[in-house]
Amino acid sequence: MALADMREPIETGCPDGFQYMHPVMRKNYGQWRWHDHPRPGVLRHVANSGDEIWTVKAGTQRILDVFTLRKLCDIGDKFADGYVRFTIRSNIEYMVSDGSKVEPLISELEGAGFVVGGTANSVSMISHTQGWLHCDIPGTDASGVVKAMMDELIDEFRNCRMPNRVHITTSCCQINCGGQGDIAINVQHTKPPKINHDLVGNICERPSVVARCPVAAIRPAMVNGKPSLEVDEKKCICCGACYPPCPPMQINDAEHTKLAVWVGGNHSNARGKPTFQKLVAAGIPNNPPRWPEATAIVKRILKAYQEDARDWERINDWIERIGWPRFFEKTNLPFTKFHVDNWRGARASLNASTHIRF
Ligand code: SF4
Ligand code: SF4
Repeated sequence: MALADMREPIETGCPDGFQYMHPVMRKNYGQWRWHDHPRPGVLRHVANSGDEIWTVKAGTQRILDVFTLRKLCDIGDKFADGYVRFTIRSNIEYMVSDGSKVEPLISELEGAGFVVGGTANSVSMISHTQGWLHCDIPGTDASGVVKAMMDELIDEFRNCRMPNRVHITTSCCQINCGGQGDIAINVQHTKPPKINHDLVGNICERPSVVARCPVAAIRPAMVNGKPSLEVDEKKCICCGACYPPCPPMQINDAEHTKLAVWVGGNHSNARGKPTFQKLVAAGIPNNPPRWPEATAIVKRILKAYQEDARDWERINDWIERIGWPRFFEKTNLPFTKFHVDNWRGARASLNASTHIRF
């Protein structure tokens, strides 16, 4: 084939965002003079040129059916010149170049059942992973946890009553592709996997399962005359990493798969160093459909933070100032042996990060 007939390779990754940007934002890119926050859920940006743009933010349930998407897009056509964008926390944002359209847009969104808020010092929408709908390894349903919690925290999304913004995350397995946040609710396995030896030989690539274990606890073994695997339960840290490549390494369990709450994680290095979240509550019942025990702990942490933190302190700044012992006192959470990280491998693996050096 002649070189001229060959097609250009299609690049993967994020598409160029400019094509989806509201024209006023494109025109004034990098030329904004100031911005303010006229009310919860609304930001106003003013450019050097004098152009203004209002951003109206509303929460969504992230996993959206086509009818809801059409409804949201129709609202965008009516008020925002056909431009919308979704944030990483499943909020939808409308950019409005005419200030007189802001209040009618909010009324239309609220009339359609959407909640406007999530800006500045509020509890923003909880970011979450795939859950039962479309991941193959979840131990709980992150989306369900989000729904149950946001039902109780919705007034904190609608209002700006926290010392600073609060980013909450949930993850449905211990691999935790949801990352970390000011408060994170993650699965915690408490028992090593139970192996279904009849299936391992048929469906698992044993060398890749052995390689997957971060603490070298898995070895090949012959069981009942069949090739299988065995786990050194003294070494196993119950992370669940062997379960995705080998489903017979059954780690999900109605009784022993729990939830854990972590606090103080911050990815950003904009105003201070990034921080790792720390475990503050372990062994919480994984209790669908409303997960009341986990929600009660999150509300308790938020209440202590709201009452005790200084203006603009994020949760990690607040704990840094008062110290962990006082955090446990103020939240009335018990400090147990499960909070002590005694994993010897942490020193080597954390040193692999660009930010952390021991
Ligand atoms: S947290 Fe785990 S189960 Fe949930 S989507 Fe991510 S990898 Fe899948
Ligand atoms: S659960 Fe994690 S630590 Fe335990 S055997 Fe599987 S991969 Fe290894």
